[in-house]
Amino acid sequence: MTRKHNFSAGPSTLPLEVIEQIRADLPEWQSIGASVMEVSHRSKAFSDVLEQTETNIRELLAIPNNYRVLFLHGGASGQFAAVPMNIMADKVSADYCNTGYWSARGAKEAAIYLQANEVFDATKADIQIIPDQSTWQLSDDAAYVHYTSNASIRGIQFQETPNVNNILVADMSSDILSRPIDVEKHGIIYAGAQKNVGVSGVTLVIVRDDLLGKAWDKTPSILNYTVQAEKHSLLNTPCTFAIYVMSLVTAWIKKQGGLKAVETHNRAKAEKVYAAIDANEMYHNPVDPSCRSFANIPFLLPSDELTEKFLKDATEHNLLNLKGHRTVGGIRVSNYNAISMEAIDALTGFMQNFANKA
Ligand code: PMP
Repeated sequence: MTRKHNFSAGPSTLPLEVIEQIRADLPEWQSIGASVMEVSHRSKAFSDVLEQTETNIRELLAIPNNYRVLFLHGGASGQFAAVPMNIMADKVSADYCNTGYWSARGAKEAAIYLQANEVFDATKADIQIIPDQSTWQLSDDAAYVHYTSNASIRGIQFQETPNVNNILVADMSSDILSRPIDVEKHGIIYAGAQKNVGVSGVTLVIVRDDLLGKAWDKTPSILNYTVQAEKHSLLNTPCTFAIYVMSLVTAWIKKQGGLKAVETHNRAKAEKVYAAIDANEMYHNPVDPSCRSFANIPFLLPSDELTEKFLKDATEHNLLNLKGHRTVGGIRVSNYNAISMEAIDALTGFMQNFANKA
């Protein structure tokens, strides 16, 4: 088996230990004579997995008791619609922080149900920056304030939880479980699993109890937090395999020492990549250091030809999936929890050699 260094933005590299555990659990799991993919979501074996996964997530994120943890369908994109439907109540607008593509997609979907106000646009300046909170255009009557904790395409990451006098909603798809967070400052946190938490197919939603019971009456049950909380995420068949993988990944994070430990490791890896970018004129990261992401690190080369050559040579050196998102081009290094220091060292060594040769 030759696993290469895979910097894919999502779905992404899983810890090798997790892959090996999955392989060991197939075709027979927990001595039940079948695999996890082949038994009822209401079986004792699967119920135990669901419960253990929730316990792991609660422990890792220190989630207070007045929050529900839901395992839903439809990805983060489903939550773009679920959030307004569940909590807009009689309000007609919500505030959206714009840090690029995904936050704009969230605002666009929400705009089907209410008016989505732009709080700021971090992507306007040549060097992109999250502006000081004192300049944010927050509205008094907005139903909630939405932000994307890490903009996976542009590599713009909030270093602190925003302080707002409103319900705070976060799309944490690309940095959940990669650092400790202040859950209690949020009304809702949601994230697709396919970056730091496992494989695609399950969406994690953490919602504060007092926000339940307010859903718009036309909300589909599958997206209704109150219904899903009452049914313990078993309104219908959940993505059992993805939840099982989540149980393994969360156990692996605990084994690494929890979120403080993975954050330290993630920052140490990211520092090496930024150092390689900043040491070479050929590479340019257009994000202000105050909000550079440790999770996704994009950079540009001077021409499309050089970018293509970089990607081709990188692939030949077993460094995979470094192409930037189609909307911004360039290179993107996704540095999630499962990326090893060895992978980062191989990458930064390659970056230095490539710059020296060009
Ligand atoms: N939000 C962010 C920050 C993302 O990075 C992504 C996916 N890359 C999404 C939302 C969309 O996620 P999904 O494909 O799970 O709908």
